[in-house]
Amino acid sequence: MVCIYCGSQTQVINSRSRQRTNQTWRRRLCPTCKAIFSTTESVNLYQAWSVKSISGEISEFMEEKLFLSIYESLKHRKSPIIDARYIAATIITKLSKVAKDGLLDQMQIIDSVLESLNHFDKAAATHYAAFHNQSN
Ligand SMILES: [Zn+2]
Repeated sequence: MVCIYCGSQTQVINSRSRQRTNQTWRRRLCPTCKAIFSTTESVNLYQAWSVKSISGEISEFMEEKLFLSIYESLKHRKSPIIDARYIAATIITKLSKVAKDGLLDQMQIIDSVLESLNHFDKAAATHYAAFHNQSN
């Protein structure tokens, strides 16, 4: 990977595996400009997972869509982006345990989000349920 400041090749100086989110974190050093930054390696779920809607349609799983739906429900909080990022990561970890051959039911995703939001913020769970329980 090249340096984000000068474009030179970087070296990995530290790395850690994050069990909870199934990611690998790496600290990189640029030998040219001495900049230090970190990267996170994670599974590309867009290609790995499909979602079966309640009406039976199959579409690709979009992490951004999951994040946005959670974010919308957390807008009343002080740090909705950080909170939504954390909850989305938790849900993806949960879903990776129930995805069969990479196929998820939309209801599994909705139930999983509701369960997490219920523990985290009741108002957010109510908001999310209002938008997702009766929709397709
Ligand atoms: Zn550099």
